Amino acid sequence: MDQTHHASETSLSIKGLQLSFGAVQVLNDVNMDIRQGEFIVLLGGSGSGKSTILNCIAGLLDVTDGQIFINGKNVTWDEPKDRGIGMVFQSYALYPQMSVRGNLAFGLKNARLPRDEIAKRIDRAAGILQIGDYLDRRPAALSGGQRQRVAIGRALVRDVDLFLFDEPLSNLDAKLRAELRVEIKRLHETLGNTMVYVTHDQIEAMTLADRIALLRDGVIQQFASPGEIYRKPVNLYVAGFIGSPS
Ligand code: ADP
Ligand code: MG
Repeated sequence: MDQTHHASETSLSIKGLQLSFGAVQVLNDVNMDIRQGEFIVLLGGSGSGKSTILNCIAGLLDVTDGQIFINGKNVTWDEPKDRGIGMVFQSYALYPQMSVRGNLAFGLKNARLPRDEIAKRIDRAAGILQIGDYLDRRPAALSGGQRQRVAIGRALVRDVDLFLFDEPLSNLDAKLRAELRVEIKRLHETLGNTMVYVTHDQIEAMTLADRIALLRDGVIQQFASPGEIYRKPVNLYVAGFIGSPS
């Protein structure tokens, strides 16, 4: 374990996380210490448990065992809304009857933020994500890439420092995916937020991550920088998944 960092810099800590659906164990002893500002990618094949980890962090699933700490606070049994997390899913899940502006404002209105603060946050997110030109349109009038920008904007306006992204680009075509990958990287560099980003795409993982946690059957195989995981895969599975030279 890395002892060189101060506890206060740890943004997210997962300890001994276990999750079972009935008799089926889906996560087995997942441990991660994530520092403030790190871009972490959870990488693994379909069914390896990536979304389940994210949903546990977000509080959308009850853990079977283990603890989750955010900024040093044990949030394992806190309500999702009290965890200070912004989440983006694979499907855009925008409200179809609301304008883009309405979608961005929705959670903030529920949280009873003052109107001028809401307007300020929407302006800022719109600038960063370049969605200012279609704030008054409905989601149906937008392209897939535009919709996903709005979905990211909804996390952005929450002004939290921990973002969870669950395969946000996997419904987009290759060109848009490459484009938005660059945007997400820029977003992270601009905001300096902590990011836990799920993907099954190793190229996405290699280009975005400070560290990659490679998951197989609910077990982290290796948690290391892209360079280290590529040069020194701990086993054949990791080597095969990453495409390391043998
Ligand atoms: P990934 O996101 O890596 O594709 P998931 O975290 O969604 O994987 O799923 C991990 C495993 O848990 C899979 O085998 C999946 O079938 C199982 N699983 C996920 N959700 C449920 C559920 N609600 N009930 C039972 N099994 C589930
Ligand atoms: Mg998933």
